[in-house]
Amino acid sequence: MEGEITTDDLSPATEVWSRPDVPFHALSMLRNARPGVTPDYDGQRGPTRQIEELRRTSGRDIAFVSDVLGTGSSRKSATNSLLWYIGHDVPFQPNKRSGGVCLANTIAPIFFNTLQDSGCLAIELDVSALQTGDKISLYPYAGRLVVEGSANETPFQVKSPVLLDELRAGGRINLILGRRLTAEARNYLKLPPSEVFQQHAEAPAAAVGFSLAQKIVGRACGLPDGQGVSPGTYCEPQISTVGSPDTTGPLTRDELKDLACLGFSADLVLQSFCHTVAYPKPADIRVQKELPSFMTERSGVSLRPGDGIIHSWLNRLVLPDMVGTGGDSHTRFPIGLSFPAGSGLVAFAAATGAMPLDMPESVLVRFRGQMQSGITIRDLVHAIPLYAKRAGLLTLEKANKVNAFAGRILEIDGLSDLTVAQAFEFTDASAERSAAACAVQLGIPAVRSFLQENVKLIQRMIAEGYNERATLERRLQAMENWLNEPSLLRADQNATYAAVLEINLDEISEPILCCPNDPDDARFLSEVAGTNIDEVFLGSCMTNVSHFRTASDLIKGNGEVPVRMWIAPPTKLDADILREEGRFSTFGKVGARIETPGCSLCMGNQARVRDGATVVSTSTRNFPNRMGNGAKVFLASAETAAIASSLGRIPTIEEYQSMMAGIAEIS
Ligand code: SF4
Repeated sequence: MEGEITTDDLSPATEVWSRPDVPFHALSMLRNARPGVTPDYDGQRGPTRQIEELRRTSGRDIAFVSDVLGTGSSRKSATNSLLWYIGHDVPFQPNKRSGGVCLANTIAPIFFNTLQDSGCLAIELDVSALQTGDKISLYPYAGRLVVEGSANETPFQVKSPVLLDELRAGGRINLILGRRLTAEARNYLKLPPSEVFQQHAEAPAAAVGFSLAQKIVGRACGLPDGQGVSPGTYCEPQISTVGSPDTTGPLTRDELKDLACLGFSADLVLQSFCHTVAYPKPADIRVQKELPSFMTERSGVSLRPGDGIIHSWLNRLVLPDMVGTGGDSHTRFPIGLSFPAGSGLVAFAAATGAMPLDMPESVLVRFRGQMQSGITIRDLVHAIPLYAKRAGLLTLEKANKVNAFAGRILEIDGLSDLTVAQAFEFTDASAERSAAACAVQLGIPAVRSFLQENVKLIQRMIAEGYNERATLERRLQAMENWLNEPSLLRADQNATYAAVLEINLDEISEPILCCPNDPDDARFLSEVAGTNIDEVFLGSCMTNVSHFRTASDLIKGNGEVPVRMWIAPPTKLDADILREEGRFSTFGKVGARIETPGCSLCMGNQARVRDGATVVSTSTRNFPNRMGNGAKVFLASAETAAIASSLGRIPTIEEYQSMMAGIAEIS
């Protein structure tokens, strides 16, 4: 298939409720007509007849081939759907398939991991010469792809020889467990280590200096402080915190059952209900009733429907310089480091307290200069793709796309006054760069005041009867221990990076928006000023209470806005504060629609914008059709969004600066 296939194409967010029913959910895969795809019913049911016809006429297994594959999220349901058509039944496990072959120029790293976990042979190679219907032979050990009837061969290299063992074991997790059991048994029998398993590549020579992320992973691997894990090293860091959102929670639950997990080894596992709370379907209600006890019986902590977005809570429960994961691609802690993953790996990390990791390289983004008046943190977040394009580290074209951040760790430095909440805007948006993780160098005062607030939050959760109490008390104690002796790891001066991107704050004097419909298509305001808009969305995990305060100050007294405006506070706590401060009254007076705290329009599985609407949104990503069918979505700061809502169009720089002039505190 040409172009980019996102996880939403494979597992549409609107059908999230059916994810645990793999064959049924798979019917929605690729349901929208596009070049090369003929859905059974356009917009409703994917190309099952076309796939069956290909299988029948070729008499062979089907491989999935595309230019760019798996962009977007860590949702394992995307892999499940794909494997439903290209994989093979797992014996004695109804509705579960593994194996299959996926070929693409670029496979998004998190998606690559979920394919790996499912025993799929995923290979990145030049697919430009392949056509639908070609009969191909693959020689993975020799690294050759041959098209029948053609003299051409395409060379490739599997990511690691261990991948072929994973394939034979039916997936990466099966292999890890099998290896561990074999080692334990041979050790008990006093036999030498087994030689049947492929070995991971030799660890590269230790680097001279380490980046912040390398040191955080080093600590999680038990190395002495100051030592880091060099890129390319296979390791299994201890996982201290795991997040499980409601969209992947039922899949994680099924994977935990497969692992026979009766108790978590990860120190804190948090379950949320933020994606489905506003307009739940009957299946969602069932999950909301059943999942909390499943998690708390295993010592996890469960939020309640209506509490709000998982990251807005999880961030407040994490510890400095520790490693975690979560079943949502935006699980990217502002302190410490998180490697988001599919539900199979998340279940494994929760159950065993560790996860497999091929330590990625890092890309450093270094800010320098002075922040200019009227510029927000969100604008700086968008400056990263803008400057990366200028530096040749990123391209917009999907064919042979360049993306220096893909699969690497994005490390941010040079913003000394950043708060932890602001740091999360950077780490959160690293998902849009397809980065494996993101680390921000923060100062002790910022982290200290953040943890002091979080201690109070945990005390409140305990008082309000959140379970599992012992887990919350343990986390509270760990925070107090840190507060008694605060310290933070720091990158070495001589750390080396795969690339360094310098951004001069002195040059950024106008807001930066990401244009429809690509989060990499970042442009200065002056390039898009005057564009008429239909709707504005203020919400998502990219926002916190300060964004809504500023937005309400900007629109106060302006009369009814000429657009449909949506307000979705990220958490119940934020909603309570905004209500008490009278901000909801301001939003109500301008005709805004106030939504239940949670993901709301950002996920696009609940309420949606009108078909074809032009939208300014503070949400995380603007992939085609995510927020509404055919919608054109500009990603922007809360300030730009609020001003645009009053005007009914994207403001000019002069309009923006004049409205911002009266604002005391910007986000
Ligand atoms: S607000 Fe959006 S990006 Fe954040 S967790 Fe919800 S759906 Fe994901």
